[in-house]
Amino acid sequence: MALLSIVLPAYNEEQNIENTAKTLSGLLEGEQIDYELVFVSDGSRDGTYDEILKAAKRNPRIKGAEFSRNFGKEAGIFAGLELTAGDAVVVMDCDLQHPPEVLPQMWKKWQEGAEIVEGIKISRGKESLMHRLSAGLFYSIMSRLIKMDMNSSSDYKLLDRKVVNVLLELPERNTFFRALTFWSGFRTETVEYEVQERQYGESKWSFWSLMKYAIANATSFSTLPLQLVTVMGIISILFSLILAVQTLVKFLTGTAVEGFTTVILLILIIGGFLMLSLGIIGHYIARIYEEVKGRPKYIISRVTDNVRGSVVGSWKKDRTR
Ligand code: UDP
Ligand code: MG
Repeated sequence: MALLSIVLPAYNEEQNIENTAKTLSGLLEGEQIDYELVFVSDGSRDGTYDEILKAAKRNPRIKGAEFSRNFGKEAGIFAGLELTAGDAVVVMDCDLQHPPEVLPQMWKKWQEGAEIVEGIKISRGKESLMHRLSAGLFYSIMSRLIKMDMNSSSDYKLLDRKVVNVLLELPERNTFFRALTFWSGFRTETVEYEVQERQYGESKWSFWSLMKYAIANATSFSTLPLQLVTVMGIISILFSLILAVQTLVKFLTGTAVEGFTTVILLILIIGGFLMLSLGIIGHYIARIYEEVKGRPKYIISRVTDNVRGSVVGSWKKDRTR
């Protein structure tokens, strides 16, 4: 019988673990789907990992891991993928904002031959205005840079084992799960879902963490900002050519005294463009630097007894050495 693995990244979610584990196991047992739940606590500072341990004690189909510190949701997803054994793997939030009711539909589409089943949001649920605005900005920047519609896409998706293996083989450290599944190009089906309201705890994303996430993902998935630097260069060259002609004409006709404003403006404009360009290039150099260092995406500090292999304190690339 085919096994379904569910990856649930969790950061300070002690109130959600028990409820989520019960809801999911109840649903999947009812549907007679063979399953395992993989909770990854992302360096939580509350009792999340203890809750995972308790849940694992109650239900042997539950696996869990704890990070040594907070590495971010991307890292949580990839660590979870690494720990799964399923023929199909679903990634979902552990706050049940991704409704479990669509799991059977995803499973069915997978059985019918889909290699990726994307969860498509048809509403974003109730969120604060600030969160809505920053998420809106984030998704529009991302969609434009990556040339994919990111607004309705989410991390809620089912992946076939071969897609999971492809993702785990990727050498890069700065991953963007949502876009990488598009990039992998496997046969994709979609299911629609409504974002649910969070029952316990609060959203872990602030305006700044979303902005940082947007910049990190934009630079890891697109080189368009670098090309923007060239465009700005061309614009200021054209601009200065016009002014050069004007200045020369004035000089030759003997009226070249005033024009101080132009000089100051030019210095300001060119200075601004230069600093902006250096900043953009700096972001890419930072990315390259991080990739070259080759540090792991995450460090696992503890795992439940049913996790096989020596994943604690190391990561895949190290284990094979
Ligand atoms: N999460 C995580 N690490 C983080 C931030 C969030 O593993 O650093 C998890 C979190 O526990 C949840 C999921 O990612 O399961 C989505 O986070 P959240 O619900 O805060 O985001 P939102 O639903 O508000 O977009
Ligand atoms: Mg949430």
